[in-house]
Amino acid sequence: MAFYAEEEHSQDYLFKIVLVGDSAVGKSNLLARFARDEFYSNSKSTIGVEFQTQKMVIDGKEIKAQIWDTAGQERFRAVTSAYYRGAVGALIVYDISRRQTFENVGRWLNELNTHSDMNVVTILVGNKSDLKDSREVSMEEGKALAEVEGLFFMETSALDSSNVATAFQTVVKEIYDILSRKVF
Ligand code: GDP
Ligand code: MG
Repeated sequence: MAFYAEEEHSQDYLFKIVLVGDSAVGKSNLLARFARDEFYSNSKSTIGVEFQTQKMVIDGKEIKAQIWDTAGQERFRAVTSAYYRGAVGALIVYDISRRQTFENVGRWLNELNTHSDMNVVTILVGNKSDLKDSREVSMEEGKALAEVEGLFFMETSALDSSNVATAFQTVVKEIYDILSRKVF
């Protein structure tokens, strides 16, 4: 699997980015919103997608973000090392309306660190920010955890689109910046 790979043109890049987090936090819908501007109220409809490639332009360079989504394996805590292999970016997602999904962020971080052989640019994402009335995790708690762990942080809503593109772009931009600092 290619990572930091340069394709035919020396200015093209392919970054593997993985989505992780508990079941039903909205990983597949974040990807559907970002890649296709779609939203599914029934989570089953998105099962089976392995990854989607999204083109982005940064500094005039074309970057392909290859974004991997679990096909439901996280339900059984059975995300394999192949899923993480070669990843240079990650979104660890929890649901702001389900505290347990936030409590489990540490486990996902451990798993990511265990399976990846390099520093993965990671953003902590508190999804479902539209569910204001059933919020169980404050924005401050999310921010504080991200700060302690050295992660980027953002609250998003795949339903109303808020911050979805920004979350993915933050990761891609940072990977690109690290890479260009190394090359030039
Ligand atoms: P995954 O298991 O992490 O991939 O989660 P899904 O993307 O399948 O979403 C699980 C459920 O949460 C589905 O019913 C979605 O419609 C719903 N959902 C996902 N994102 C949001 C969001 O931002 N706001 C709200 N209100 N619901 C969401
Ligand atoms: Mg899913």
